[in-house]
Amino acid sequence: MKLPTVAAISLSLGLSATVATETGPITVTRAGSQPSSAGPEQNFTGSVRVDSRFQAVAPARVGGGIVTFEPGARTAWHTHPLGQTLIVTAGVGRVQKWGEAVQEIRPGDTVWIPPGVKHWHGAAPSTGMSHIAISESLDGKSVDWMEKVSKEQYGQ
Ligand code: MN
Repeated sequence: MKLPTVAAISLSLGLSATVATETGPITVTRAGSQPSSAGPEQNFTGSVRVDSRFQAVAPARVGGGIVTFEPGARTAWHTHPLGQTLIVTAGVGRVQKWGEAVQEIRPGDTVWIPPGVKHWHGAAPSTGMSHIAISESLDGKSVDWMEKVSKEQYGQ
């Protein structure tokens, strides 16, 4: 016996489709049209640069960019309301969940940080690191910043 599909069930119940459709153009934001920005001092330690920032238009809520950390540079402790995905593209880096050991991350590694998990990410002490960072926003917010990562927490 063939089982009915979700769409068929919805139609039989008289429900309308909830998938949003849009007829606007595909947007290509060209390299060089958006200046690099610096990670603000209150949320980062060391030199951090953000390129290729993007923020989808509602109802989509995904945003992110390419983040480059100089050696020793790192985020402050923080959480993401809907989590975050990191894709390491260059160098050697570190990520740590509060209360757990520091993990080394390298190009090609993908990292999933679950919603509400306190963590930081950054470069290794003597090697820079770049990652693509992707997160969804909840009520217009994708990050909650906390205290900085101390030298002792960062390690050698
Ligand atoms: Mn994060």
